[in-house]
Amino acid sequence: MTQFADLGLAEVLLRALEREGYVSPTPIQARAIPPLLQGRDLLGIAQTGTGKTAAFALPILHRLVSARRRPAPHSVRALVLAPTRELAAQIAESFRAYGRFAGVSVGVVVGGVAHGPQIKALAGGLDVLVATPGRLLDHLASRHLRLDAAEVIVLDEADHMLDLGFLPPIRQIVARLPNNRQNLFFSATMPKEIAGLAAAMLRDPVEVSVTPGAPVAERVDQRVFFVDGAAKRDLLVELLADPAFARALVFTRTKRGADRVAQHLERAGVGSAAIHGNKSQSQRQQALEGFRRGRTRVLVATDIAARGIDVDGVTHVVNFELPETPEAYVHRIGRTARAGAGGAAISLCDNSERPLLRAIEKLTRQSLAVIDRRSAGSPHEDATRRPLQQQRRAPERSGQDAVMRIKSLAKARAGKSFTGRPTLRPQREVERCATSVTHPAL
Ligand code: AMP
Repeated sequence: MTQFADLGLAEVLLRALEREGYVSPTPIQARAIPPLLQGRDLLGIAQTGTGKTAAFALPILHRLVSARRRPAPHSVRALVLAPTRELAAQIAESFRAYGRFAGVSVGVVVGGVAHGPQIKALAGGLDVLVATPGRLLDHLASRHLRLDAAEVIVLDEADHMLDLGFLPPIRQIVARLPNNRQNLFFSATMPKEIAGLAAAMLRDPVEVSVTPGAPVAERVDQRVFFVDGAAKRDLLVELLADPAFARALVFTRTKRGADRVAQHLERAGVGSAAIHGNKSQSQRQQALEGFRRGRTRVLVATDIAARGIDVDGVTHVVNFELPETPEAYVHRIGRTARAGAGGAAISLCDNSERPLLRAIEKLTRQSLAVIDRRSAGSPHEDATRRPLQQQRRAPERSGQDAVMRIKSLAKARAGKSFTGRPTLRPQREVERCATSVTHPAL
């Protein structure tokens, strides 16, 4: 198995990795780090949970320490764009952890907090800046930041950026970067707009695709309750009374909906917290921390707030409302099947949501097991209680097969290859990432 030392990373980084307890690189790290150290552009098709943050942070830190130079005032050497504040904070934490012996400066620029400290941090220049697009544009417009000296840019979770309407700001930001730069582009899925953006940004990229051992949709036991909208809250309380729901993530479509559900749960004696875009940064962090540490058993979230958040051990995802897009459904249920694990996802579907359910079944190529709540009988059935091993119905597919399915899906959408170019590059690597087997640390 490849070791970090074999990849040619600087000694100060190897020491930090040892401190982190990382023994060997994950598949995406082993594939992506060598070409990135050579200065190549990268297109990474990977979800969180694969180790992708270290896959880009380590080569960037290596570059910064190998050619040390003080960043000019109001300038940055490496820029990482992330869709949410939480993800930006996590990425910055990773840079700080891996760079702890490297003496690099790392800053974060996100919305929802005061401008002042950010302006102060930017004034001296930074080695690494992790930012969400909106606030970054503010600082560019007010000239507290310039990007003409940036050497590397990372676009993380590009598909999520698209969902959030960040493509126009990203184009504006990219237009401010110098031509001579290294581009790293990560996305879990490749809708047409993202393939187009990747093609515009990347030059001769190495493509690394890492998928979990089996598609998420096949590792998660999925059930749907047909239930009237008005009865959903009570059904939710009933479901959550089951202690098997040890760490449950409940999704609503709107921020108000999230608050209402959390309030209802509180009234019913189910400890919960809500997380969404109207909450302050510290409220969100507090809610997340409580959930991560097991103090809060139920976290109610909107899609936007929940994506990219690194919480392991989620036992159940409950779709209180079905999402607007089937892709969002796959992202949601992926929260309970991290790092090759299984999990359970329960959707509460009223009549008006049936078309959304059909779209989900079409995308995942599965029909969900139905529990009809409107007819008599126990709502539980035993669906959520049986061990997951017994519940799994879908046949295992080979990793290659899974990759091909994702690729053909993306191609069908984009009408072209991932890079928007007709041929696949010989350097392209497709790796089955059975993380639970090949990488017990994940
Ligand atoms: P990411 O996909 O970047 O969100 O990483 C998922 C989790 O894996 C994070 O908690 C990382 O700290 C952890 N991780 C990343 N690389 C390794 C590694 N090589 N060995 C052990 N843990 C890792």
